[in-house]
Amino acid sequence: MVSLQIWSIIDQNSIGLIFFQILKNVDYIIIGQGLAGSILAYTLIKAGKTVHIFNQEKINTSSRVAAGLYNPITGRNMVKTWKADEIFTGLEHFYRQLELWAEKSFLYPIKIYRPFFDVSEQNDWQIRASDPIYTLYIESITYKSAKENIRDPIGGISLKPSGFVDINSLLDACRAKFNSSNSYTEGIFEKDSLEIRKNSVIYRGISASKIVFCTGISPISFFDWLPFKPVKGVILKIKNNLNLNFILNRGIFLIPQSDGTIKVGATYDWNDLSEAPTIEAEAFLKNKFNELVDGDFEIIERYVGLRPATPDRRPFIGMHPEFQTLCTFNGFGSKGVSLTPYCAEHFYKHLEHNENLNPAVSINRYYSLF
Ligand SMILES: Cc1cc2nc3c(=O)[nH]c(=O)nc-3n(C[C@H](O)[C@H](O)[C@H](O)COP(=O)(O)OP(=O)(O)OC[C@H]3O[C@@H](n4cnc5c(N)ncnc54)[C@H](O)[C@@H]3O)c2cc1C
Repeated sequence: MVSLQIWSIIDQNSIGLIFFQILKNVDYIIIGQGLAGSILAYTLIKAGKTVHIFNQEKINTSSRVAAGLYNPITGRNMVKTWKADEIFTGLEHFYRQLELWAEKSFLYPIKIYRPFFDVSEQNDWQIRASDPIYTLYIESITYKSAKENIRDPIGGISLKPSGFVDINSLLDACRAKFNSSNSYTEGIFEKDSLEIRKNSVIYRGISASKIVFCTGISPISFFDWLPFKPVKGVILKIKNNLNLNFILNRGIFLIPQSDGTIKVGATYDWNDLSEAPTIEAEAFLKNKFNELVDGDFEIIERYVGLRPATPDRRPFIGMHPEFQTLCTFNGFGSKGVSLTPYCAEHFYKHLEHNENLNPAVSINRYYSLF
């Protein structure tokens, strides 16, 4: 609904009344169209809500450089990720539905093969193979070398569901969709242009019942008290004579791309938060590569970005303690692909159906820092 509104503004010198035209009313304004903003917007739209997105496009955001891997069993100790049973059951279906909506393919389900590190790990998986907690995620286990040109002398484990999402394609396709319904505006968010009311917000002529900040490692000042812990990551795109038809993973991942190249990554650096790749990062990746595969490679491209990570590895979701019309949906760290669909649905139910937010993801856990 389009209407004309009057309200007071405060600038450096005066307080006065101005006429300001509200061009559009939506349910939600979303700031940031990375993976988090895109998935939340889609989830809201599918639920019948209206959104408008403001985003400042940058080339090296976390979503733009990410490998897009999803994998239910992670870490040095190879354990199920947080809420794996709930998250992975519907994950591929979610992205298939998003592909249909966005009219573009970007989901690549591929098995992950992890060569055993040592006999002890091999034994562990032999036991886990009959453990109902893990059987859902085990595609197959081999106890002797099974893959050509791969260093897997005592075999390894193939996991499912796994694969990767081409996040760049996803973002571009979603943007085209948002643009086609005039729901996208390019540009940096300007705090001074936001009018906060008790039950609504108005930003650049658009009024909404809530504004949700999905700005990754650049938290808007309303939420800059949240203790982000950014982690730099480097990925290499390489050429090599390997003919991979699965994702190879141990310490690093090797993801085959449709053009025959391979993405090798990623590093984790909590100290050097610069946007440049480093010799150390490349040396680390080369070293890990050679633990898994024979031969050398040619580097085609380098990707560097900062993951919007958090101290307890759980997202930052919820409403501002003082202004209930301001929300955040952020902090997806290194697992944006698997976490955002589940968390977007969870947040939607909280916003629209008053369901409690899981305390593990709610920003309430950091209110004392506010
Ligand atoms: C090297 C690397 C590898 C990774 N690999 C994987 C992987 O394999 N699997 C996986 O699941 N995850 C991976 N991740 C993590 C994943 O990228 C993140 O979890 C996810 O993409 C975060 O998305 P986001 O939308 O929260 O943040 P972002 O991608 O940072 O998006 C935020 C958006 O908001 C915009 N923005 C910021 N500030 C403003 C402002 N003031 N005004 C307007 N717009 C603004 C930004 O320009 C951007 O478009 C990886 C990350 C890195 C760095």
